[in-house]
Formats: sequence, C-alpha cells, structure tokens
Amino acid sequence: MLSKALPEYANSKTAVWWDMDTCPVPDGYDAGRVRPIIEGALKELGYYGPVTITAMGNLKEATAHFLQRLSSTGIVVQHAITDCVGTLIFSDLMEFKSNNLPPATIMLISDKVEEELSFPLGRNQQIRRGYNIVRARSFGGTLSRIEHTADWRWKTLLEAAADSVSQDTTTSYVLRKCSSSSALSSFVCRACKFTGLSVASFTSHLSTEEHKKTMNDQAAPEYVNSKTAVWWDMDTCPVPDGYDARRVRPSIEGALKDLGYCGPITITAMGNLENAHPHVLQGLSSTRILVQHTRRVGAYIFSNLTHFKAHNPPPATIMLISDRVEHLSLCLSLAQQSRYYNLVLARTYTPESMSRLYHTAEWLWQTLLARSQETTSYVLRTCTASGDSASSFFCKSCDFTGLSVTDFTSHLSSEEHKQKEIFISKSSLPNPHDSDEDSDEDSDEESMAKASFN
Ligand SMILES: [Zn+2]
Ligand SMILES: [Zn+2]
Repeated sequence: MLSKALPEYANSKTAVWWDMDTCPVPDGYDAGRVRPIIEGALKELGYYGPVTITAMGNLKEATAHFLQRLSSTGIVVQHAITDCVGTLIFSDLMEFKSNNLPPATIMLISDKVEEELSFPLGRNQQIRRGYNIVRARSFGGTLSRIEHTADWRWKTLLEAAADSVSQDTTTSYVLRKCSSSSALSSFVCRACKFTGLSVASFTSHLSTEEHKKTMNDQAAPEYVNSKTAVWWDMDTCPVPDGYDARRVRPSIEGALKDLGYCGPITITAMGNLENAHPHVLQGLSSTRILVQHTRRVGAYIFSNLTHFKAHNPPPATIMLISDRVEHLSLCLSLAQQSRYYNLVLARTYTPESMSRLYHTAEWLWQTLLARSQETTSYVLRTCTASGDSASSFFCKSCDFTGLSVTDFTSHLSSEEHKQKEIFISKSSLPNPHDSDEDSDEDSDEESMAKASFN
C-alpha cells in the first residue's frame, strides 16, 4: 500500500529510523545510495519536507568504508546491541514527538515493528495524533496493528531505485548535494553513549575494551550463584613479567563479579612450568589456584572439562583463558550442543572471524589483569585472610603431587620427570608437540579426542 501524502504532510518533516539488523544493506550495494533512495521514494508519494535518517544496528562487523558511505549522505549512524534496537527506536520516537509538533511523518524501516513496537506505539499514536507513519520491512503479509499510509518491501525499494539510478535525476541530484556538503554526520554508540566525529574515531571506539565490556552479557539468573570453573592456559596467556601472581585470582574474580557471577570459583592453571619462576608458582598457589604442569594444554583442558561436566550438571559457568580456544572449538561446540554450559572467554587477542563457540562474555587477558589495584587488593586481602591452606602442585605427566614450590620445582628438574616427558612425547602423540606451538587444528583435535577417551 502506497498512498499519496496528505497536504499537511507535504512540506513537514520526515524522521526515519532504520534498523540495519533486520533490513540490512545487501552485500556489494553502495551504502551511499540508501539516503537518495529513501528520499526518492518519499518524494514519489509527495513528501517534500526535510528528511532526517537514523541508522541503528550492531556495527561490530561494519567496515570503515560502509560507515563512511552512510555518513557521507548525512545519515546518523548508531551502534546498538541488536536486542535493544526496538526499545531505542521507541524512546527516540517519543523524544522526537516531544520536540516536534505535528504534523510530521515517521518512517520505520524494520521487521521488529509488529513484534516489539506495535503495542506501545499503537497506544501512543491514539493519544498524540498528527504523526503520519510510513514503513518499510523485508516481508509483508501480516495485518498491521499500526495505522500507516505507505508500506514498502525493503529489497524492492533498494532494487527499483538501483535500476533507474543512472537516469533518475532525483537520486543523483540528492547524491551530489549530500556528498558535496562538507559536514559528515556523527556516529553514536548507544551502548556506551559515545559520539565519534569521524569514522576512524568511531571504529577505534568499537574496538576498545571499554566498549567491548558493554557487549558482555550480565550473568543470567541461573548462573549468579552457580559454580564457575576456570581453566587457564599459562603458555599462551602468561603472567606478565613483574606482575604479582597473587593478583591473578582477584582480577579474574573481579571481572566475573562485574557481570554478576557470585558463585564459588575454582581456577586451574596449566602449562609447561619447567621454567616457571618459583615466585609465580608460590603466588598462584597462595591464592588457591591449582597449578598443573603439562606440555599438552589443549588436550588437557578438554579432558578436564569433560571430567568437570560429568561431576557438575548445569547450570554452571566455564571460563577459558587461552589463545588456543579456536583449536578446541569443534570438540567444544559439539559438547556444548548436547549439554549447554555458560561459556566466557579471555585471550590476548581479538579473533577476526566469528567463533564456532557461543560465549556470553569475553575479555582481553592483559586488560583483565590490569584491573585497578584497589579492587584487586581488597579481594586479595579477603582471599589471603581466609584460613584456607595453599593449594598443591601437580605434574600431569608423572601424576606427581608436590606440596611445596621447592618440592615441585625439584620434581620438574629431576631426571625421572625428563624421562617421562620423552616417553610421553614418543608414545602417545602422532606429532610430537615440541616446537610447533601453532600446530594445525587437526592434530590438536585428534589429541583431544584421544584425551577425552582416556
Ligand atoms: Zn561503545
Ligand atoms: Zn613430572
């Protein structure tokens, strides 16, 4: 349905809210054409007033070029968590209505209108009259519960105009006019209430740790008081030089508490500890971190996890601190699909592609450790004050338990231990795990599968 504009709306304002998550720009489509297309479609129906466009969506994957093209036509670009887009559009709408007396036109480009906005907006439209609604969505069909005067299919709208773009003087005129205007519109992160004045400052904001924190989900109610088991791969996420190892546990606990995880936390640290500094080992153990030596961290974490799951039915949270998580992702994702545990991650880098694993929070290891000294020292006090005895040390290769650091380090340098390591690397692994830290996924998966059947 596309009705012509009533006379009172012909020269009044039109405010457009465009939900890019449900009505995206197709791959390869020039984002700079969206505004001229929207304006062209409105003009065809007789809307000649000024048009403001706010584009909202999860911009995690958006390229700088895409943002630049949108913004160059004067579209206000806003990053928002997908689940919040409906709510944010509604609150923007209410604000628009209180700042702009009728008559005015509101254009909603979203598939969420029926589902999320029809109730509040339907009520509000009855009280505050004089706002004409037009809309676009990716599918039609259902009877709308919101009175509107035009309804476009999003794709048809984009395509129709694309065909005629060379001849269509309106489009190219608007395009020319917009891109020649020097002022770009700004970029807003609704999650952090950050405003960027350039694509560069905006994209760099989206990659900051501050911003990513807002993307971490708060603990769901069932995880607030349930257990959290942490496996920490010290080979890929080591304790930085000069860092007090006693601060590791409070840092991890603090980060988890920030998100509402308040249940008991066990931490298992593992890695090749043959050259670990006794200070570090002592520091970890004094805060009740279980310290374990192994040269096969990937496989070991996986078998530990399997063991943990067998003894701890859901709900429980699993935290993995490792740069090797993607190597484990196939096995883990299969396990998670049959029996779901809440998963949170920390690592020293941000992966470029989407993980096979679904997780609800992620930290950069170095940022997590850099939590403010005050917070950690408070937790530190309460930790060390608790009368708990220090945890023991374990050599996975020899099944050896050391009760003190000296005990443990002298075991790790013993001839017996060295022989055992040689034996293990010769007998149990198809490819010895010595120099190639970045061993390909297959061999890791293979050794994990082995480990899980042990
Ligand atoms: Zn942000
Ligand atoms: Zn040993």
